[in-house]
Amino acid sequence: MRERRSTTSRRNFLRASAGAAVGLGAARPLRGSPAVLRSGVAPVAIASGNGMEAVDTAFRLMSGGGDTLDAVVEGVNVVERDPDDTSVGFGGLPNLDGVVQLDSSVMHGPSRGAGAVACLEGIKTPSRVAADVMRHTDHVLLVGKGAQRFAVSMGHAVEDLLTDGSRRRWIEWRAKMSDTDDYLAPESPGRRIPPFEDDADRGAEILDSHDGVRPQGTINCNAVNRDGDLSGVTTTSGLAWKIPGRVGDSPIVGAGLYVDNDVGACGSTGRGEAVIKTCGSHSVIESMRSGMSPTDACLEALRRVVTFTTEARLRDAGGRPNFNVNYYAVNKRGEYGGAAIWSGARFAVCSDGESRREDSAYLFERGS
Ligand code: ASP
Repeated sequence: MRERRSTTSRRNFLRASAGAAVGLGAARPLRGSPAVLRSGVAPVAIASGNGMEAVDTAFRLMSGGGDTLDAVVEGVNVVERDPDDTSVGFGGLPNLDGVVQLDSSVMHGPSRGAGAVACLEGIKTPSRVAADVMRHTDHVLLVGKGAQRFAVSMGHAVEDLLTDGSRRRWIEWRAKMSDTDDYLAPESPGRRIPPFEDDADRGAEILDSHDGVRPQGTINCNAVNRDGDLSGVTTTSGLAWKIPGRVGDSPIVGAGLYVDNDVGACGSTGRGEAVIKTCGSHSVIESMRSGMSPTDACLEALRRVVTFTTEARLRDAGGRPNFNVNYYAVNKRGEYGGAAIWSGARFAVCSDGESRREDSAYLFERGS
């Protein structure tokens, strides 16, 4: 069964058809694969470790014939609306001024569509606004007030996203922020950034907890259906206590998310600046295009992050990054994998109706 077309706008559908007619985006087999599979793919939904419900929802919707983008967006909406998840949407940890600013992107493989929003305030489900940007505008990325005005025009309600719990954590941080904000002090160029809380398996993963922990968190969810069609979404409140206006990797197409319907889908969580600098998710897709497995492709992109981490404040005593980055990838054949810089990370996956967590591959063993 092919993707349902009713879920993409007529304009996107016409664009996709026009592309096909002139041979744009024609399916290219993965190297080593007998042919591009058009049927018989085992559907898979993969997400960051906080995405157990997301993969469950996405898999169920795809099993009912739902479009892959609708499936992953519905999946992450569960987490975006959860006030107890402080990494995304409602209840997300705020910026330096105590304002929750959200970033999200979506990509729809079959129509080659992309949409994104950044620094969006007051909307619980930024992933839905990103999907609206893709379906109802000729643009890819809307930011700030303009993104909010667009969201309101599409019927999204503006609400206060700061929960009492998140406000309390912000007040605690503000009371002792001094050297843990994002402004670099010129007189101390070697200053270490505070360690980051890893979202891969919330609570169990703190890279280094000897001083103030700087929370991060995001949900990425990617899926392939039985036709080999792919979509992905990444959504986040970004780095807690960030400088207002800071945009992470999540809404940057090619960084926090990339989908090529001929190859696969990939997204990231972790230190967004490192992912942006290395065009992370796009490079994972390109490695998969040249024949690498999803796990190997994720590891290769992480090696590049390590190479790009030259700042002393971002390296540990062994010269390794003192932060984490995670990639989650699935290819057109339904093969999937996740990898992180540091050991101990996990990802959520649903490939047979049962969602579970699996260990991510890694470059460095914690404590080594
Ligand atoms: N990647 C997100 C950002 O940098 C944060 C995270 O995933 O922890 O905004």
